[in-house]
Amino acid sequence: MLTDVRGNTEFNQLFPQSRVLLVDDDPLILEGLVRLLEGRGYDIVTAQGGREALAAIGRQQFDIILLDLAMPDVDGTAVLAFLNEREVDTPVIVVSGNASIDAAIVALRSGATDFVRKPYEPEELLRRIDHTLARRRLEKENGLILQRLQQSEKWHRFLVNSSPDLIYTLDAEGRFTFLNDRVGDLLGWSKEDLLGQPYTVLIHEEDLPGAVHIFNERRTNARQQKQIELRLKCNPGQRRPRAMNVRYRTFELKATGMYEDSGNRFETRFIGSYGVAKDVSERKQAEEMIHYQTYHDLLTGLPNRALFRDHLGLALAQSKRNGQNLAVLILDLDHFKVINDSLGHGSGDELLLNVGARLRQCLREGDTLARLGGDEFAVLLPALPMRQDIERIARKIIDALSRPMQIRDQEIYVSVSIGACSSPDDGDMVDTLIRQAEIAMYQAKTQGRSRLQFWLAGMQAPYSARIQLEAELRRALARNEFVLFFQPLIDCARLRITGFEVLLRWWHPERGLLTPADFIAVAEDTGVIVPIGEWVLRQASEQLAEWRKSGLPAVRLSVNISARQLESADFVESVLRSVELHALDCQCLELEITESLLMRDMESNAVKLSRLAAAGVQIAIDDFGTGYSSFKYLSKFPIHTLKIDQSFVQELGPDRPSPIVSAIVGMGQGLRLNVVAEGVETVAQQEALTALRCSEMQGFLFSAPLPDWEAARLLRQGDEPLDSLGAIA
Ligand code: C2E
Ligand code: MG
Ligand code: MG
Repeated sequence: MLTDVRGNTEFNQLFPQSRVLLVDDDPLILEGLVRLLEGRGYDIVTAQGGREALAAIGRQQFDIILLDLAMPDVDGTAVLAFLNEREVDTPVIVVSGNASIDAAIVALRSGATDFVRKPYEPEELLRRIDHTLARRRLEKENGLILQRLQQSEKWHRFLVNSSPDLIYTLDAEGRFTFLNDRVGDLLGWSKEDLLGQPYTVLIHEEDLPGAVHIFNERRTNARQQKQIELRLKCNPGQRRPRAMNVRYRTFELKATGMYEDSGNRFETRFIGSYGVAKDVSERKQAEEMIHYQTYHDLLTGLPNRALFRDHLGLALAQSKRNGQNLAVLILDLDHFKVINDSLGHGSGDELLLNVGARLRQCLREGDTLARLGGDEFAVLLPALPMRQDIERIARKIIDALSRPMQIRDQEIYVSVSIGACSSPDDGDMVDTLIRQAEIAMYQAKTQGRSRLQFWLAGMQAPYSARIQLEAELRRALARNEFVLFFQPLIDCARLRITGFEVLLRWWHPERGLLTPADFIAVAEDTGVIVPIGEWVLRQASEQLAEWRKSGLPAVRLSVNISARQLESADFVESVLRSVELHALDCQCLELEITESLLMRDMESNAVKLSRLAAAGVQIAIDDFGTGYSSFKYLSKFPIHTLKIDQSFVQELGPDRPSPIVSAIVGMGQGLRLNVVAEGVETVAQQEALTALRCSEMQGFLFSAPLPDWEAARLLRQGDEPLDSLGAIA
C-alpha cells in the first residue's frame, strides 16, 4: 500500500519542493515517515526529538511540520509553544500515540493545524498533508494578492496625488467623495473644505449651466466620457503666489459616469461620476494674449489695422441700416522718422504713446482710434453727418498735437497730416475707404503737412510715386546724376562776389533737371540724404580745389546741411575729411544749417559745430527769422553768418522798410556776424539792404544758381564790379 501511495503521481506533483520537517524521538517512526514521503519531491528534514526540531526550525523555514507530542527532551507542546512565540506560521500536523480527545484538543489549541493518531493510516496521513499544504498554498497566494493589491493601491494613490491634474469623484447627488492633493496647489482649497460639498461650490456662475449638463448627464459606453472647459473658483482666503492670485482658473474637465452593474443592462444604477480636471489657465492666457496681439498694437494698446477693419466693417453695416454717414481719418505724423532716429527709439515710442493719448482726448466714446503701424493712426467716426464735423474734429486733432510734448526732458513739436473720406459718399467698402483716406493723407503731406485733406475722386496715390522716387534716388548717386549749381553771394558795399551757395540739382533721366523741392523731402525721410550730402561736400571741396588750381580767386562755398547729416555720428569727421582731401583752407567752407535743425538737439549740435568752427569751418544759419531766432541760441553756437529768409527780403519795397529785416541786420551787426539777404529780386530790395548796411546779398537780381563753368566764368571776371542789373545774360 505504501508503494501504491508513493507511486501515485497525482500526489507526487501536487506540492513539489515543499519543505517538510518530520519530528519524532523514535528513529523507526521517523524512517517510516521518510519512506512514506519519499518520491513526492519534498525536501525532507528529520529531527529526532524536540531539541533537534527547535534547532531545525531556527535554521530554516518549513511548509509543514509533522510533530510527535511525547518526546523525552523537549516535547511537542513545547515545540508548538516555541512556534507560537516566534510567530512562525508553519502548519503543524501533530502525529501522536496519545489517542485521547483531550490530547487532540490541547494540540489544536496550542496551534496545531491537524491531529493524526499513531499508528497512522498512510493514505489518511498523506491526504491530511496534502490538504494542509493546499491550504497553506492558498493562504500564501491570498497573502501575496493582498500585498499586491495594497501595493497597487499605494501606487495609484501616489499617482493620483502627484498628478498635475485635479482628480475627483462625485456621488449620485454631485457631492465630492474624493479629491486628490492637487486641489490645494491649484485652487487653494483643502480636501476637507470640499469633501461632502456639491461640485457647484467650485464653479464660476457663468459656467454653471454647462457644468450641470456635464455632471448630470447620464452617459454610458461611447458617450460615457465628456469634456468641457470650466472656470473653477480659487479659495479667496488663501494666500498664494502673486502670479496665481486670481479668482478663477480655467480647467479642461473630463467626466465619466459611474454605474452599479446589476447584470441587467436596462437596470444600471447611476452612482456618481469621476473625472480629471486639467489646469489650462496658462494656455488660455497665451491664447488670449495671442488674440490680443492679433488685434492690438502692443506699444499703445490701441486697436491695430485688423481690428480697425473689423470695426469699420460693422460700422458700415450699421450705417447702411440707419442711413447715417461715417468718416475714416488716416493720420500720419510729419517727420516722425527724423525725430525717431535722432532722439532714439525709446523717446520715439514715448512720443507715440503721448500722441495716442492726445488723439483719444479729441474723440468720443464710440469712435475708434487705431494705430496702423509706425506713425500712422486711423480714426473711425461713426454717425457723422456733416463735412464740417469732420473738419472740426481734424482741427481739434491738429491743435491738440501742435502743443509741445515733453519727452525725457526735451520739448518736442510734432504735427500731423490727415486724410479723410466718408461713407456712403466715397464708397462703402472697408479697404477702399482706408486706401482713399491714406491717399488723401499723402496729398495733405505734399501740400505742406499739418493739414486735413478730403479724398477727391481721381486722386492718385503719391505713395507709389514716392517709392519709385526713393528707388531712383538711391540709384542716382551711383549713376552720377547729381550736379552742383552755384549761386553767387554778393558783397553789398563793393558789389563783388565773395562766394557761392552750393545748390543741388538732379539730372533725372526722364524728368530732366530737378530742384531740391522735387526730391529733398524724400531723401530726408529715407535717409538717402546722408550719402548725398557727403557727396555734395566732397564735390564742393573738389570744385574749390579745381578753381584754385586754375588760378581763380579764393571764394567761400556755402553748403546746405540736412538734419540727417548733422545728426549722423561721424558728421564732423566727414566734413573735415572732404576739406583735408584737397588741402583746402577751412575758411573757404561754410555750412548752412536751418534754425529749426539747430534747435533739435542743442547740446550735441553745439559740440559738433564747435569742433568744426575750431577747425576754421564757417557756420551759417539758413532761413533765419522763420524759427526761434533767439539770442540765446545765437550765443550758444559758433555762428559766423545769418541768412535772412527770402520771405522777409521780399517784403522790402521802394517805400516799404521791413522792421524784421532791419532788426535782423541790426542784431547781426551787434553780434558782429556776416548777414546775407536771400532772394533779392529787385533793385529796390538791393538798395534797401545796402542802406541798412547788410553784408551780403543773394538772389535772381544778380544771378540764378549756375553750373560750375558759368560760376567759373563769373569768378574769372575778377575784380570787375558786378552790374546789379544782370551779371549774367
Ligand atoms: P536755401 O538754402 O534757402 O536755398 C536758397 C533757395 O532760394 C534756392 O532754391 C535758390 O535757388 C532760391 N533762390 C535764390 N535766389 C532766389 C530769388 O531771388 N528768388 C527766389 N524766389 N528764390 C531764390 P533751391 O536751389 O531750389 O533750393 C531749395 C532748398 O533746398 C535750399 O534752400 C536748401 O534748403 C535745399 N538744398 C539745396 N541744395 C541742397 C543740398 O545740397 N543739401 C541739402 N541738404 N539741401 C539743399
Ligand atoms: Mg541755403
Ligand atoms: Mg535759405
